[in-house]
Amino acid sequence: MTTPVGQSAGPCPDENECSVCNKEVGNKEKALNCDICNRWIHIECGKVNQSTYSTLKKLNTSCQGMKWLCEKCEKCFGKI
Ligand SMILES: [Zn+2]
Ligand SMILES: [Zn+2]
Repeated sequence: MTTPVGQSAGPCPDENECSVCNKEVGNKEKALNCDICNRWIHIECGKVNQSTYSTLKKLNTSCQGMKWLCEKCEKCFGKI
């Protein structure tokens, strides 16, 4: 088991802030939740293309849960 290093509990875990631009992620905005750090990232900020986003959304609604890593986590963990 590997424990994520340097994971700090934010002051407000419910706050949906994009970890890249630090702006709030609204309900209508397209964003993904990183599976490792649990932060939201706008698809534009995470350089996620539309088709990847819709694929992940589909997975998510079929209660697979979505596995998506933000850029930072992907760098740390590489391709799993
Ligand atoms: Zn953003
Ligand atoms: Zn992450």
